[in-house]
Amino acid sequence: MKVTYLCPHCRGAINAENNIILSAKTSTNKVGLILLHEEIGNYTSALSSSLTVEKGEVVDLFCPICHKSLNIPKKDALAKYIRIDNGIKESYIIISRKYGEKITFKVDENKQVESYGEKLKRFIDPEWFL
Ligand SMILES: [Zn+2]
Repeated sequence: MKVTYLCPHCRGAINAENNIILSAKTSTNKVGLILLHEEIGNYTSALSSSLTVEKGEVVDLFCPICHKSLNIPKKDALAKYIRIDNGIKESYIIISRKYGEKITFKVDENKQVESYGEKLKRFIDPEWFL
């Protein structure tokens, strides 16, 4: 199945080979790229050499193309981008920005929410996804 991930701002494609590529900045101003596996529920990740992140640290995520923030601007540490399956079916993917926290939501065009990874240990308002 062909899958494409897009930045919600510029709609540039942010995946290549099997990786989603995101630009990241830590609270201590370390910057670099984060590679996430494009398969939902696969939490394999890699960091470029200028970036080190402690487990549990929250990072700011940006589009590597237009550099706009992918953070969801509410108090919870989440980010979102767009996934397109087979060139047609569009959904939002919501991930945790807390490093090591394996949480993913997929919200389709009918606002159906699928949850992947660990169970949420903290409250997240579904209204914040969209
Ligand atoms: Zn962008």
